[in-house]
Amino acid sequence: MAPSCSPINSLHVAVIGAGAAGLVAARELRRESHSVVVFERNTEVGGLWVYTPQSEPDPLSLDPNRTVVHSSVYDSLRTNLPRECMGYSDFPFVPRPEHDESRDPRRYPTHREVLAYLRDFAREFKLVEMVRFGTEVVRVEQDGRKWKIRSRNSDGVSRDEIFDSVVVCNGHYTEPRVAQIPGIDLWPGKQLHSHNYRVPDPFKDQVVVVIGNFASGSDISRDLTGVAKEVHIAARSKPSETYEKLTGADNLWLHPMIETARKDGSIVFKNGKVVQADTIVHCTGYIYHFPFLNTNGYITVEDNCVGPLYKHVFPPALAPGLSFIGLPWMTLLFTLFELQSKWVAAVLSGRVTLPSEDKMMEDTNALYAKRDANGFPKRYTHRLGVVGQAEYLNWIADQIGEPPVEQWRNKELEDGYVRLATQSDTFRDKWDDDHLIVEAYEDFLRQKLISAIPSQIFG
Ligand code: FAD
Repeated sequence: MAPSCSPINSLHVAVIGAGAAGLVAARELRRESHSVVVFERNTEVGGLWVYTPQSEPDPLSLDPNRTVVHSSVYDSLRTNLPRECMGYSDFPFVPRPEHDESRDPRRYPTHREVLAYLRDFAREFKLVEMVRFGTEVVRVEQDGRKWKIRSRNSDGVSRDEIFDSVVVCNGHYTEPRVAQIPGIDLWPGKQLHSHNYRVPDPFKDQVVVVIGNFASGSDISRDLTGVAKEVHIAARSKPSETYEKLTGADNLWLHPMIETARKDGSIVFKNGKVVQADTIVHCTGYIYHFPFLNTNGYITVEDNCVGPLYKHVFPPALAPGLSFIGLPWMTLLFTLFELQSKWVAAVLSGRVTLPSEDKMMEDTNALYAKRDANGFPKRYTHRLGVVGQAEYLNWIADQIGEPPVEQWRNKELEDGYVRLATQSDTFRDKWDDDHLIVEAYEDFLRQKLISAIPSQIFG
């Protein structure tokens, strides 16, 4: 449906979180004339990208009463996508020569560069003035047709406030998912989740088993090879006969999943190989977690499917008062945050309308039925994938009268994932898609988002 030109409603909106999703949500809501309060429990913007050497006291993060450390970033982390495709549409993530030497101009820069970009974004669009730092949202519930938010500041003082709408942007890489391993209760070694991994030094001379071979598993195992005696990756997706010595290190092996852990300290893989291991690092992903949300059981998280949600954003019976930004994965995340935010802002102002509750529910059930028919588990509900993500983003763009996502951006994501999977030791420094970089920067130039193509970008 084509959106009409002028905003109708200006609402009082709460945004939970000032990470990459919450910042752009705040900007889009304000652009649409809403009044916005962003609640952020940390003392600065950036969310996940605010690296801290601290990790949680419980290395598997199983204790529900533990002190939570939000960030899952490790010291050596560089982005897993090319920077050109990561930025917001009108504020490209390009090397900024005017800044100091701590900036990283590489195509796959360090986590510090992403944080610097998000700070630049917040400064450029004067977003910080909307953020209440050191303020954690502890409860969200309906209050008639409005929403009540209870927050607690760093002095422990609680406050209840009423909003017309709540936009949840609390991030989804903090609550770990841990692998189930037969025999693990009697296994005497140490275990931790990648959420609590920062640097390799504590693993010096150890034999380490890393479970998971996607972005974090691959990175952390390579980070460990510099100090550990041996590193063995257990990959659930690999056939049971897999046994490979990986390139780029002389102490790194790839196995299928673990068969069992034994009380003598050994780990047996499904390929029959046995190693005497000191530590297991679970690089097994994260679960969605909304400890503050009270919807009387309407919204559930089952096997990591948050639902029911129309197009991963609006719970049909509670829309548009409650919405979620940033649940999907395997996609261009910053682009998704921006488009979802624009959609929420336009729906709240009345510029764009949602279908009826029944129609939204019908659409949501159709998505679940398709997922089941394709044999995907529930936890894949929010996984978009290369083709699905372009369709999804363009569908939202169409709702709000925005152009479709640039082809070069989708192609960079696609090629980037292929490189990540096939050349995990070199994908950040070797590529053969310079033509996409040129296209991206020409696009930025054409839109006057940059004044010149920086010389450093071709490495
Ligand atoms: P976050 O950045 O996690 O922000 C959420 C914010 O909400 C935080 O500031 C938190 O303090 C706040 N918050 C949470 N609960 C509350 C509460 N109750 N009250 C108040 N405030 C609260 N994406 C990419 O595009 N490229 C990459 O290269 C990339 N690499 C990654 C590497 C790792 C190891 C991980 C884990 C993820 C990576 N991602 C990457 C995905 C990344 O999570 C997203 O890019 C994005 O930064 C997430 O933004 P967000 O705002 O949704 O969440």
